[in-house]
Formats: sequence, C-alpha cells, structure tokens
Amino acid sequence: MPVIHSRVNKQTYQEILDKVNKCLSGWNAMHLSLVRRLILTQSVIQTILIYAMQTTKIPSGIRDNIDQACRHFIWSGVAGKKKMSLVKWDHIYQLKLCGGLGLKNLSLMNEALLMKIRWGLIYSPNSLWVQVLLSKYTLNHTSLPNVLPMKYGSYMWKVVARIWPEVLKGIKWDIGNGNKVRFWWDNWATEEYPLHAFASQPIPLEQVNECIARFITDEGAWNWRLFANFLIVAIKPLNMSDEDDQMYWAYSKSGGFTTKSAYLALSKMTINDEDSFWSFVWHWRGPQRIRTFLWVVGQNRLKTKAELFRRHIGADMSCARCGCLIENTLHALRDCPGAKHFFNLNLRDWMLYNLKNLWKYEGFFYWTCLFGVTIWRLWFWRNQNLHNGVTNSTSHIVMDIKCRTEEI
Ligand SMILES: [Zn+2]
Repeated sequence: MPVIHSRVNKQTYQEILDKVNKCLSGWNAMHLSLVRRLILTQSVIQTILIYAMQTTKIPSGIRDNIDQACRHFIWSGVAGKKKMSLVKWDHIYQLKLCGGLGLKNLSLMNEALLMKIRWGLIYSPNSLWVQVLLSKYTLNHTSLPNVLPMKYGSYMWKVVARIWPEVLKGIKWDIGNGNKVRFWWDNWATEEYPLHAFASQPIPLEQVNECIARFITDEGAWNWRLFANFLIVAIKPLNMSDEDDQMYWAYSKSGGFTTKSAYLALSKMTINDEDSFWSFVWHWRGPQRIRTFLWVVGQNRLKTKAELFRRHIGADMSCARCGCLIENTLHALRDCPGAKHFFNLNLRDWMLYNLKNLWKYEGFFYWTCLFGVTIWRLWFWRNQNLHNGVTNSTSHIVMDIKCRTEEI
C-alpha cells in the first residue's frame, strides 16, 4: 500500500498527465472502431492511473485535462484532436446495459479506490499499513476507528478522513452477541444513519460508546428503560446469538468490499436499471462495429440531416434522397423510399419471414407464435373499432396479445 505524505498538487501529477497524453498519441486509432478506442483508453487509465488513485485524490484540474485527452481520443482517434461527440460525455460513463459505453468516471473510480483503504482500516486491522497509520495517530482500533480530519495529518490521512461518511453508509451489521457494535454510533438499526441521529436530546455520557449487549435485559429483550425516553424511532426486537457481530459491505452480494460495488454505489447506478433494449443491442450476434452502429441508432444519434441541424451544423433538415421535410433516424432507416423498399416485402414473403422466425421474444414467446396471434388480434380490434365503436389503447392491445400467446 503506497503512502504519499507530501501535499499533492498539479505539479506532482503533471508527469501522469504527460504519460497519458504520450500513451494516447502513440496510437493512430483513426481507423479503429469506437469500442476499440474505448478499450484502449480504459487500458491507459488502468495502467497509468489506478496505482496513484489508490492512495491519493487526483486534483480536479489534472482530472479535467485527462478527461479531455480521453474525450478527444475516443471521438477522433487522435489525442488532442477535437471532433464532434456522438453523445454527452456523461453518458458514456453509464453502464453498457443502461445505454452508456461503460467508461469509468475518473473521479468516482478514484473515490471507490480510496474507499478500499478505509474498508481495510476496519476490516484488516492487523495489516502492517493499518498498524502504521493507527500508531502514527495514536488511535486505538475499536470496531470502527474514528477518522476525523486532522490539520497536520499526512495528505493520505486527510483523504481517508474526507470520504469516511461514504464508507460508513455501506457498512452494515449482522448482530450476534452484541458485544462489538455500538448501540448509538454504528449503523445497524436503520438504512442510512446510526441511532444517535434519532435522539431527541443528548445521549447520556455513560451510554455513548456502549455496545448493543449493554441495552439488552437478561431475558434477551430491549431494556427500554435506558433509552425509550429519547429515542424517536422504533427498533425491532433482535435475534441474538452467541456468535460475534459480523460486519458486511452492503453493496456487494458476498458482503465483502469490492471496488466495483463501491463504484456503482457512488455513481448511484444499480444493475436493476438495466434495460433489456440495450441488452439486445450489446448481445447482437455479429461484428463489433455493427453493434456500435446499433448503439448509435438506439441513442438516436445517427448524423442525419435533422441531427446535424439540431447541432447547428446543417442548414436544413430535409431528406436529400426523397425531399421529405425531416430526415430523422426513422426516416433514413425505415421510411425513406430507398429504405422502405427493403422493408416492403410482399404479403407472402412478409408472412413467411415472420412465420419462419424461431427467435424467442423476451426469452419466452416464440416470434412465430407471437406473430400469428398479433395479426389475428389486430384484425379483431380493427373490427371492434369499425363495427362497435370500441377503441382501445395500444398498451391494452399489447397485453391482450401477450395473454393470448401465453395460452397457447
Ligand atoms: Zn427520404
């Protein structure tokens, strides 16, 4: 674990910035696909920056410069050469399955890596570097060392102190015998805050650092007499055991700290945000450059006349092929006569194409099945509308089709 004591400034990191620039300009990536350029950028960040980011916070000025170099490289293929970006820079930090390109946000990655140190402070109290830090600042290792900013602390210590609250949010407890977890100060009873945040008056001094076991009667119930008068939230009965209290990291499935889970928590991204649309795009079976093209189309960022107009690049939005007033993505790929011709199969070919398709829609319905039911129900609802004046929302018709397909 590298420990940097001196104050870090722009000068300290100039060397790193130069390295990133040198590395990126070493490639002539103009002819590489967008995704290839992303992978190269990620590898540069990985090899040059990760080590430094484990113990220090990269100054924002340097970080901005690195971001800019990466941005130029990703969009143009040449470091230092500006080119029109396809999507907002923030957007490419999103997970691929959430519509982004999965590039790591330097600032959040830096914080996630620093959180690893703080987790180590609690979880590996016997490792040498933790011992060095604790003895340097004459701290005892209790269940959670109080890391407070210190005016004369080393640079690393200050960095550690600053992000402590973020780490605390991710720490949760399985209560065993209640001898380790502090009743008022550790975050064990609510989702976000320790109980002291819910005290209606100052906590009696003799209670402040007491563990949970001290608040339990011999019969194993809460000793309400000790705190009921000033705790303003309800707490559940505990299932105590003889085991030690166990700490775990709330953001990972295993309960252990991972930089990835910390990064996701910091960026407020969860895997639940995944959109199956992007999953289909990224799992499309075929060459990478076509997958990237599908991503651009899905983002509605194809450089059509309408898109160029929106960016104040083109003078008009009309389609040069057919003269239609607005050439947007759907027009270019589907509605323009040039494209329409491709999708305009004759009746027999259209039906055959769909009936032969054994692709599973939503992993469940066979397309051929869904297709048959769909055209049948569309005709039914068309007749309902025409003869009985019944109108139905599209979502209702989709539900109807799904239900009837399920019955098959
Ligand atoms: Zn057209």
